[in-house]
Amino acid sequence: MEIAVVSGKGGTGKSSISAAFVSLARNTVTVDCDVDAANMYLLFNPVIEKKNRFKSGKHAIINRDTCIDCGICKELCRFDALYEENGKMQSDPIACEGCMLCYRVCPNNSIKMISDEESLMFSGNFRYGKMVYGRLAPGEENSGKFVNMIRQYAHHIEEEKKTGMMILDGPPGIGCPVMSTLTDTDRAVIVTEPTLSGLSDLQRITEVVLHFTNAAYVIINKADLNEEMAGQIREYCSVNKLPVVAELPFDPQVVSAMIHGKTIMEYAPQSEISTRLKEAYRIITSQKADHSPLI
Ligand code: SF4
Ligand code: SF4
Repeated sequence: MEIAVVSGKGGTGKSSISAAFVSLARNTVTVDCDVDAANMYLLFNPVIEKKNRFKSGKHAIINRDTCIDCGICKELCRFDALYEENGKMQSDPIACEGCMLCYRVCPNNSIKMISDEESLMFSGNFRYGKMVYGRLAPGEENSGKFVNMIRQYAHHIEEEKKTGMMILDGPPGIGCPVMSTLTDTDRAVIVTEPTLSGLSDLQRITEVVLHFTNAAYVIINKADLNEEMAGQIREYCSVNKLPVVAELPFDPQVVSAMIHGKTIMEYAPQSEISTRLKEAYRIITSQKADHSPLI
């Protein structure tokens, strides 16, 4: 079973909840899909076994020694990635999409395609099984593709280890890396919080989630901090047939647990929040999932 934990934005407590699920699962392949700011490895401190490189593309550079500034490349580049400066042709590595057209048409072979910076994927062992995570190279934007690569590798590990459980800590937001996280998952858990922006983020992420699966559940974190907004979120979930599997109280022990390098299940197993998370996990993993998307 694959459970993806997502939220419409950062700071909702998504990673703490993912970590609690990892503790409850006991033997998992845990995947940190937040390649912009992976943090699960800080908590679980895996022993790294493997490091893979991910090159997302190439960009054009001009050899100024041989370029005759004929302008053919600039004329053909659809991305405005080539420009003249004081009569000399230059390339813009940020605007370049790596299509290689200029490389092919240059009459003087003055264009070279060079690899963009390399992102890194790590995998290793930790106290609850195997962990896979990635670190996107600075300035790199192809994180959806990178998340795909990480997930494929996690599947490969799962086929080998047969843990029967994969927990994916998704990136915040609703962009490509979130979609890559949600593709083919069995369950999606949306973490939200009782604020106006929390409700609007929940609405946005729900639309995305329901494109992939209707086995979607909601956890309202810090639900007791704003009873009125928690009520509005409950109402939204009820109208949209999204089961609210836990309303978690605000508990400073969650932060203390992180500081001590533990999940809340390890740090305060008898606490109210741990009891509610345990029940949420039981519901999520025991219900039969219907994979047909609603939208
Ligand atoms: S096509 Fe080649 S030679 Fe002409 S301006 Fe571009 S890089 Fe220079
Ligand atoms: S590789 Fe494509 S996008 Fe990049 S500069 Fe050349 S033509 Fe433009």
